[in-house]
Amino acid sequence: MIIKPKIRGFICTTAHPAGCAAHVNRQIDYIKDSTSLQGAKKVLVIGASTGYGLASRIAASFGMGADTIGVSFERPASEGRTASAGWYNTVAFEKAARAAGYIAESMNGDAFSHEMKQETLKLVKEKLGKVDLIVYSVASPRRTHPETGETFNSVLKPIGQPFTNKTVNTNTGVVSEITLEPATQEEIENTITVMGGEDWSLWLKALEEADLLAEGVTTLAYSYIGPEITEAIYRKGTIGQAKNDLEATAHTLTKQLEPYHGKAYVSVNKALVTQSSSAIPVVPLYISLLFKVMKEKGLHEGCIEQAQRLFETLYSGSTVETDEEGRIRLDNWEMREDVQQAVKAAWSEITTENVSELGDLEQYRLDFLQLFGFGFDEIDYELDVDPEV
Ligand code: NAD
Repeated sequence: MIIKPKIRGFICTTAHPAGCAAHVNRQIDYIKDSTSLQGAKKVLVIGASTGYGLASRIAASFGMGADTIGVSFERPASEGRTASAGWYNTVAFEKAARAAGYIAESMNGDAFSHEMKQETLKLVKEKLGKVDLIVYSVASPRRTHPETGETFNSVLKPIGQPFTNKTVNTNTGVVSEITLEPATQEEIENTITVMGGEDWSLWLKALEEADLLAEGVTTLAYSYIGPEITEAIYRKGTIGQAKNDLEATAHTLTKQLEPYHGKAYVSVNKALVTQSSSAIPVVPLYISLLFKVMKEKGLHEGCIEQAQRLFETLYSGSTVETDEEGRIRLDNWEMREDVQQAVKAAWSEITTENVSELGDLEQYRLDFLQLFGFGFDEIDYELDVDPEV
């Protein structure tokens, strides 16, 4: 099968197995060349197949020599349809990690369910034993609650009043104004149920009950804050409420982990192109301006560079630096005064005509394509490939 990108709005419905492998292998090479840490050795990553979770898994194995189990929810290939990118990424990661001598096992299914937790714990017990790092990096638009069976949908909306700002169609490059209506109370609550901290704490509870937490265990989840430009739709919007809940969960979990001398952290990461962030209105335009400014200042990072910095922060031996809320701030370069001033200045002037000059839409598009295994020079996209790997 010859596989080409099929983009529908902010998703790509195809993925390229060899391209996804190239994406994974580039991240592995980066980590091998830049990091060697004494850190966690037995790692469970929930949401391990793409974006920040995948980068964390790569950095754990190839930067710290860890054995890993990854949980994700991906689609295998079927009847002429390619698998999802996360499926191919997982296959490529397992292959490389095993070849390097690390245990790498993966579970595919709904992490929110009791069944997936129990199946995963069985595998953890069999392959890893007690874990010393649990990374929770699930991003999902919906969650079926394991107790009630009710399905909740998350929404990306402002709270209290409508929000109008600029946005870009990343496919056409057209900059326009968008108005988003405020969420209802029910939508706010549902978004917290999906993207808040409840499932993270259910995973920790299940691991504790199965006696699978090691002495000194660390657990991590990821959050975002961002600038004033995106505040109404992100931090002060529905998703921001869910992130507040996630961040509060870190404090509760740290108390629960006291008998293990363990700790739960939220790491506030940089805005990056992932399947999840491309779905948020206004954010892709902000990201393309941010990329331009950060590249010019030599500060640009992707998921793997962020994962590297995170583990260096956690495992370098010195006290883990956090903000006053106890969060690790990997967004410190994004939020630097000079960076934000430059983005703000460009934002006020941005139009369809100058978006390519003031922003880095090309980088945005390339990053987006590469999420699905396209846009790699080393891959011949005219070759017939088997989608069933
Ligand atoms: P992503 O879409 O790349 O990854 C999501 C992962 O969750 C995938 O591995 C997917 O398979 C998994 N997943 C989704 N639903 C699942 C389910 N029901 N069961 C099991 N696995 C499931 O997302 P990402 O951008 O890497 O986001 C990960 C975390 O990082 C989120 O908490 C997000 O808010 C946070 N974050 C993202 C950014 C950004 O700019 N992308 C910035 C800061 C923080």
